[in-house]
Amino acid sequence: MTLQIWVRSLEDYARQVVGKKCVGCGEPFAQPLIDHYNHDGGWIVYGFSRRQWLSVRCSHCHYDTSLWKLGIRGDVDNLPEKSSLQIDSETLGNRGSVGER
Ligand SMILES: [Zn+2]
Repeated sequence: MTLQIWVRSLEDYARQVVGKKCVGCGEPFAQPLIDHYNHDGGWIVYGFSRRQWLSVRCSHCHYDTSLWKLGIRGDVDNLPEKSSLQIDSETLGNRGSVGER
């Protein structure tokens, strides 16, 4: 039996962002460009060996909104949530540093 996991690419995530509204000004994203950096609490992204923290910058107000705030959580079981940030850091502790940029 083979376990198959659908891993989304940055383009797949960008498609999910289209139509979501900027947290800063409320404008919907039309052609979002995903910003990303290594982050063990982030998303699994096709082509990256490490999890990536994903955000998108608004072309109107230049506010950076994380995909998490847009409700795009991917298939990740340990994304940081408001109420469990500390637990999350501990859980991730033995996998490497958290919050590394
Ligand atoms: Zn905006």
